[in-house]
Amino acid sequence: MPYFELVLTTRCTLRCESCNNLMQYFDSSSSYTCTLEGIAKTLETLLAKIDSVYNIRIIGGEPLLFKDIDAVVKILDSSKKVKSFDIVTNATILPKPALLKALQASAKGFISISDYTKSPNLDIKLHIHKLQEILQAHKIPHHILWQEAKATWFSPGKIYKRGRDRQGIVDNFLHCQMPCVSIMSHEMIGRSLLDKLESSPTSSIVAPPSKAQAVSFSKASAQSSVGEIFICPIASSLSRLKGLEEFSGDFVSLDSTCDKYEILNFYAKEFFKACDYCHDMAAPKESIPIAVQTSTTLKLTP
Ligand code: SF4
Repeated sequence: MPYFELVLTTRCTLRCESCNNLMQYFDSSSSYTCTLEGIAKTLETLLAKIDSVYNIRIIGGEPLLFKDIDAVVKILDSSKKVKSFDIVTNATILPKPALLKALQASAKGFISISDYTKSPNLDIKLHIHKLQEILQAHKIPHHILWQEAKATWFSPGKIYKRGRDRQGIVDNFLHCQMPCVSIMSHEMIGRSLLDKLESSPTSSIVAPPSKAQAVSFSKASAQSSVGEIFICPIASSLSRLKGLEEFSGDFVSLDSTCDKYEILNFYAKEFFKACDYCHDMAAPKESIPIAVQTSTTLKLTP
């Protein structure tokens, strides 16, 4: 595999209105954080099926919120199949000593720091210089993203089901060409759906499954797949917000039936239901200020 993004959590210290990973659509009831066991099993299963991966980007939300991130670093560092990896952080929190030690011992891990100082309404303190000092002191490679004076983002637009026909969805994918394959473990999905249904009959997630569906899915997922490969972080986040069943056929399940040919076929696919939720990728891109903050949870509606 050339590259994939490993999602550890949807929790974040910021709330960017135009986050490309859809964190602005998660609330506390729908948020997701993997377990160390779940993500370790997912990586073990995937790495057994591929020859190598050139780069893995560890993302969130804010991945430093995942308490066992040092253990994830050690797993990636110990695999000969993983050629390099980085952690993307927004510099709102500093790495713990265990993570610094794990990165210091690694010859292929580095940190990517998102510089959001140009956000027009950010009111949380960023520790970019302090983080750089710490990483330099530990000789951990790092670089800064979005540092250019005129750095902007492209607006991802609102995310909701558009109702395109099959060819329209294929066309949207072909115009997008987002190369960000995304992987999530899913050990918490069945349980979290059940929790939601038990605690809140009027759950805010869109189109919640029935309790019977959640029970059945929980049992099925416990027996088979440990995680999934999605075409991009928007697709993986949608699967958490709306349920995996909604996107059947879009992803590769990392179960005993999966082999490297299924993964190769995934890269040849051009129809993904998730692509119906994105704005018109053929339209001119709209530049927007970076990291504009919102205080609301966005809905998957127009
Ligand atoms: S869901 Fe499809 S169209 Fe949207 S960003 Fe992902 S690959 Fe592109």
